[in-house]
Amino acid sequence: MTLPEGRYCSYCGKGLRRAPVDGLDLPEEVLKPACPDCGYVHLDAPTPVAAAIVERGGEVLLVRPHGAEAFALVAGYPEPYETIEEAAAREVREETGLEVQVEHILGSYSCEPMGQNLVSVVCVARVAGGEYRLQEEELAEGRWFPLDGLPAWPEEWPLAEVFADYGWEGKR
Ligand SMILES: [Zn+2]
Repeated sequence: MTLPEGRYCSYCGKGLRRAPVDGLDLPEEVLKPACPDCGYVHLDAPTPVAAAIVERGGEVLLVRPHGAEAFALVAGYPEPYETIEEAAAREVREETGLEVQVEHILGSYSCEPMGQNLVSVVCVARVAGGEYRLQEEELAEGRWFPLDGLPAWPEEWPLAEVFADYGWEGKR
């Protein structure tokens, strides 16, 4: 894993490099970005993303942002002090106008698009009200896909795994 370009020490401004951290026995791929000059260690924690599987009668709602080729789950970053469930429901409301009730969390899925380490926590939600209205500033398209006719995902996305887990859950 390479360190994204342009990451600098918050204290002295020197370029960060991955280095061993005193007292932590970490494998090489998780060495922390550290300042070679003042010793500041950037914690480099993953960023949480709240995502929602919104299902209605065997179909799931997917959205495609402007400029993107692939559809994805409705998702976004939690606001400070928001729970993942609250964030997922808010994102669905903001992006589609639908009110949803989060039933449970399916799982968490790590990926690294554009060098950014994201951990998506995927919530299973059902529509509880509201009126479908796409947020057109961010999104080009929203569409209900049958669960047996989902689109192809970019390989580096964890969505195939997400829907495999979701399918298994339905069979339990
Ligand atoms: Zn420094």
